[in-house]
Amino acid sequence: MTAVELSASVAGAAYIVAALLFIMSLSGLSRHESSKAGVTYGIFGMAIALAATIWATVQDAWGQPQAALGLTLLVVAMVIGATIGLWRARKVEMTGMPELIALLHSFVGLAAVLVGWNGHLHSPGLEGALADIHHAEVFIGIFIGGVTFTGSIVAFLKLSARISSQPLVLPGKNILNLGAIVVFLGLTVWFVIDQQLWLLVAVTVLSFLLGWHLVASIGGGDMPVVVSMLNSYSGWAAAAAGFLLNNDLLIVTGALVGSSGAFLSYIMCKAMNRSFLSVIAGGFGIEAPKGDDVDHGEHREIDAESAADMLANATSVVITPGYGMAVAQAQYPVAELTQKLRDRGVDVRFGIHPVAGRLPGHMNVLLAEAKVPYDIVLEMDEINDELAETDVVLVIGANDTVNPAAAEDPGSPIAGMPVLRVWEAKNVIVFKRSMASGYAGVQNPLFFRENAQMLFGDAKERVDDILTALHATAPTH
Ligand code: NDP
Repeated sequence: MTAVELSASVAGAAYIVAALLFIMSLSGLSRHESSKAGVTYGIFGMAIALAATIWATVQDAWGQPQAALGLTLLVVAMVIGATIGLWRARKVEMTGMPELIALLHSFVGLAAVLVGWNGHLHSPGLEGALADIHHAEVFIGIFIGGVTFTGSIVAFLKLSARISSQPLVLPGKNILNLGAIVVFLGLTVWFVIDQQLWLLVAVTVLSFLLGWHLVASIGGGDMPVVVSMLNSYSGWAAAAAGFLLNNDLLIVTGALVGSSGAFLSYIMCKAMNRSFLSVIAGGFGIEAPKGDDVDHGEHREIDAESAADMLANATSVVITPGYGMAVAQAQYPVAELTQKLRDRGVDVRFGIHPVAGRLPGHMNVLLAEAKVPYDIVLEMDEINDELAETDVVLVIGANDTVNPAAAEDPGSPIAGMPVLRVWEAKNVIVFKRSMASGYAGVQNPLFFRENAQMLFGDAKERVDDILTALHATAPTH
């Protein structure tokens, strides 16, 4: 066996081990109890994959004139990537994770575009059917990468509120999307027959425009699905790059990310009562939202002392947290409040909406961080039917996920999205800083209901105030 063959087999074996570790990582991450182990498997898998890639590159390049340049580029790229990665990961707030993920997806997309171009400019000199397959791979890889690249940038801009989260509604937008797909298919056939450079330029521009339009057309409430859908696209883009680079690990990893992202998008669509196809096709069939100019009347306010009183006299309390709890970092006083009330004999549970916060599982992570027991943290479907029997619901920084308009107003932009039916409880206390709308930009009629009262201010400060007030009250149970 020659040195090059040996290095290829060592790298191949390492890639299989890395791929298995990635599968174990995904399976570990699917449950709270095993999630830490899942992360560890992922880190080991990635370390092995990197080591094997460096090893194979060094072995391949050894003794060749361009070896030093290739290795230097590899090291420089890794140092720059690792520095930016470490810096961002240390700095990012939990609330900023979705936009960071969206930005990282855009890098995967751009990488796939560059790999595609490189695959054409440094064509391996194949012939016959193999050459046709190679040309198709180049074209499809660039297309998927381009859609992922600009789509992820729009998602980043929307999630970080740099542009409006309202859907862009161009006239005939569905025809535009379908037209782009048809043109892409036509250009692919043309490119396989005749590899003109302008065709590559055309597919790159087309994919950038389509990615931009697809995500710009999707409104605020549906953005969670878009993030997981782009995750899926980035996986397929990586798999396409894997075919071009002849790298099995990239193909396996890309397929894992692509299929798990697609499955997550499907689950989220089902949970939010959205059609999977309509969301991936850029809000296909979703009409422009009507303006909300309904007069909901007056809202009522409550102060921390009266809220503490109400809680102390309650038998059952349900807490429904949302994005505002993450912003305020109120999970720690919320956990303390839970403990205090339980010590007094109050039945306290949490109701978690599948898209509360800014990424799936956001609230579960925060509550686990604050050591809230898992068994009192329930999913929306587990708690919804019990809300009518609940004395007090504390809505802590949640808005869209508790909006009755989703269930009652067919004209609302979030119509049909299942929500926590908190308004059925005997009393609702809403913690927020103002009467502003939530992420989807829709007014919330809950705030004007007779059984609802607003507790204005930063959620952490208000929960702290309730704790102080409770401290002064003798237990009543
Ligand atoms: P929303 O984003 O609808 O509302 C959050 C509320 O928190 C706001 O009304 C805000 O009101 C309040 N708030 C903000 N900061 C504070 C603070 N410091 N103290 C007290 N309140 C505060 O939250 P939900 O969790 O209910 O809904 C999530 C939304 O995000 C949905 O529309 C979902 O589709 C979308 N989304 C979810 C993703 C996911 O995967 N989970 C990803 C992307 C989007 P005020 O400013 O008045 O304080």
